[in-house]
Amino acid sequence: MDQRMKVALVGIGKIALDQHVPAIAASADWRLAATCSRNGSVEHVQAFTDFAALLDARPDIKVVSLCLPPVPRFDYAAMALEAGRHVMLEKPPGATLAEVHALQAMAEAKGLTLFATWHSRMAHAVAPAKAWLAGRAVSRAHITWREDVRKWHPGQDWVFEPGGMGVFDPGINALSILTEILPKPVHLTGAELEFPANRDTPIAARLSFSGNVTADFDWRQEGPQTWDIEVETDGGRLALRMGGNVLEIDGKATAGENTIMGEYPALYARMAELVRQGRSDVDLAPMVHVADALTLGRRIAVDAFEF
Ligand code: NAP
Repeated sequence: MDQRMKVALVGIGKIALDQHVPAIAASADWRLAATCSRNGSVEHVQAFTDFAALLDARPDIKVVSLCLPPVPRFDYAAMALEAGRHVMLEKPPGATLAEVHALQAMAEAKGLTLFATWHSRMAHAVAPAKAWLAGRAVSRAHITWREDVRKWHPGQDWVFEPGGMGVFDPGINALSILTEILPKPVHLTGAELEFPANRDTPIAARLSFSGNVTADFDWRQEGPQTWDIEVETDGGRLALRMGGNVLEIDGKATAGENTIMGEYPALYARMAELVRQGRSDVDLAPMVHVADALTLGRRIAVDAFEF
């Protein structure tokens, strides 16, 4: 008998098709039982365009994975929890911190699992980096996260609309790694945010944190892309490159990769474990830094941006 748990995917767009569908297909824990999307679908899988209809028609599907952009996601998450379903959230877990707190309270009241995923934390070298940093004193850390928005988000205007987070959409991945690996938490002390004249979210950000930690996020990087975190400690230098997939200690690449799973297969394995154990996993630390940057940041107007 098929022991796999049934999951419904909502918001069949770029990340659902690039990562969620293949990760579920390759998983021994999960079976994609239905989708809900206004336009998208997955071949051979029952497709709904209305989420209430899916919840109504398929009480056998106990888990819902939401791949929508952050702004529309809350209403779907609340409906799913209200209908007694466990919920997995793409990153960032919501458009605001308060709405994720509301979801946490709903999940807890109903005894349901809520998993706010951070896919970058599952990158190969993140766990070894965390282990290496444990017990060391960090004297300085710097994040360089520079990529080309036209390449990674072609035509996705929502990233520049209120709640879309702009360059923090990728930048929060770096912050999800930083908050995972640093032995002691830091807090934001200042930010400069560059807003294109015609957009509502920043295209670049420079952040300062307590503990001599800084970050440089830029979405206008053409050519080679950079996703690096460099950390200096009392016991040597660590660098995480390629978005957390390559670990260097004192300038030398190490065989630190301790997992064979990709980021999304690892997220679905974790969700299976959480559901079986009846637990939730919601860490909002990366999103707190983004909210603080938007609260404390100095706004700088830059050239208008078009895709
Ligand atoms: P996307 O392709 O623009 O959106 C996903 C789907 O959500 C769309 O195809 C659309 O499907 C549905 N949708 C969009 N706006 C909606 C609305 N207002 N109401 C209801 N449905 C709506 O976005 P994405 O790149 O997949 O990103 C989704 C989430 O995944 C984001 O939080 C992002 O940060 C995260 N993520 C993205 C990437 C990436 O490489 N793109 C990587 C990691 C994580 P229908 O039109 O069919 O309804």
